[in-house]
Amino acid sequence: SATEYVRPTIYALSTRPGRAAIGVIRISGPASTNVFKALTGKTIAPKHRASSLRKLVSPKTGVLLDHALTLFFRGPKSYTGEDLLELHVHGGTAVIEGVLKAIENLHTPYQPIRHAEKGEFSKRAFQNGRFDLTELEGINSLIHAETESQRLMSLRSMEGETNALFSRWRTDIVNNVALLTTIIDFGEEHGVEETDEIFQTVRNNVLDLQREVSEYIARLDRSEILLRGIQAVLLGPPNAGKSSLLNVISNSNTAIVSDIAGTTRDIINVPLDISGYKVVIGDAAGIRSLNDADQIEAEGIKRAMAKSATADLVLVIVPVDDLEVDDEFVNHIKQMSKRGKRILVVINKSDLLVNNADLERVLTELQSKLGLPSKDFTAVSCSTGVGVDNLLSTLTQEFKSLTWYEDQDPVSISDRAKDILVKDVLYGFEEFLLFSESNDVVLAGETLRYSIEGIGKITGEAVGIEEILGVVFSSFCIGK
Ligand code: GDP
Ligand code: ZN
Repeated sequence: SATEYVRPTIYALSTRPGRAAIGVIRISGPASTNVFKALTGKTIAPKHRASSLRKLVSPKTGVLLDHALTLFFRGPKSYTGEDLLELHVHGGTAVIEGVLKAIENLHTPYQPIRHAEKGEFSKRAFQNGRFDLTELEGINSLIHAETESQRLMSLRSMEGETNALFSRWRTDIVNNVALLTTIIDFGEEHGVEETDEIFQTVRNNVLDLQREVSEYIARLDRSEILLRGIQAVLLGPPNAGKSSLLNVISNSNTAIVSDIAGTTRDIINVPLDISGYKVVIGDAAGIRSLNDADQIEAEGIKRAMAKSATADLVLVIVPVDDLEVDDEFVNHIKQMSKRGKRILVVINKSDLLVNNADLERVLTELQSKLGLPSKDFTAVSCSTGVGVDNLLSTLTQEFKSLTWYEDQDPVSISDRAKDILVKDVLYGFEEFLLFSESNDVVLAGETLRYSIEGIGKITGEAVGIEEILGVVFSSFCIGK
């Protein structure tokens, strides 16, 4: 026949919209290579399993859409069994929309491209006989491992585990309210000592619950870091080697330094995978101007300093040939360190040093200037690569301690649910402890309702007086 059926190429954002720092757009099907070529302006097809940092440009308008990490799997050795392209872009809605639109625009009757339906990537994987987990393990991509941990996390949050935990908390609180009710309603049947004892028991239980919920929230925060990507920022004077370091770390041949020169962005954020951790490294380059290099560089450093205040990890870069660190900069570092910010000082251009004694001298000088312990210093040469492996393992240690990833499984709940845990559940506990200090059993008992109702708002269960009385009568046998 004249028209042969062409399998449509499908695309979709595969990360949850709106939250993560990096959005992963997947494209699967025969046109994947063309999509890569059209968006990157390259004429050669991407290599199997190769990842690289590329500028994505709208083929229609020529507008720069984003700097993205591209990852390509040639079918059948891909998740779907077809040619599969992944674009790891910055998570902003506008950027993602722009890239999705540019892909959609590549649709023609001869090259059908459309948005994927729910579960369609998995469906294709299944149809192509790829749904074999042992084979998936062979895909040696850190990015996939990361995606997998996100998948596990969302499964965990959607399903039993979280719900079971919340119901247990709820039951615990209901039981404690019931205990208090026994004091309030049936107090005359107990002696004073017994009443005090019950009240003390409830207080201890609430303290335990408060600790448990707080720990859960801390775990949510660490998981959040894992989910959105660890935010690291490079901080250092002009020519310290920030861009060179970024290049060395990303281990990419892409000319990031020259890419940056032409951009108008304040801070370049480069998404990377380091030892399986999703990391976004911000470099304040690109603010350099030939006209007023000094002033504009200074502005860049100011912005980087501002950004470092919200980063999870700050990499301070000092070149051995210029140890004159400006006072304002030193103060900023000391301030951040005082507030518990993780800071790592990277001494760069170690190749310019003559010997180890020379390095010791540099270390001692910087240590006393910055007031940081020696374990927070590491020396590298971006030119020769000496020390880079060591830096990477130090970074991995930092990532691990920021996320506790290997000690605890990540958890995730909605922002709304987290908000309720803090503003209703924990609030109820705090109020309870306050009122219990003044031995006001009635008011103290009422405050625990905030906690129960809070959990109810999350899980959809409401609490009624019957339920509490039900517990009172069944577990404490007060009923006649
Ligand atoms: P930035 O302004 O902090 O981003 O610094 P760049 O990465 O642009 O580097 C500034 C200059 O220092 C460039 O000429 C680099 O080639 C040079 N440079 C960077 N790292 C090293 C290093 O480890 N050793 C030496 N000798 N030069 C370096
Ligand atoms: Zn730079």
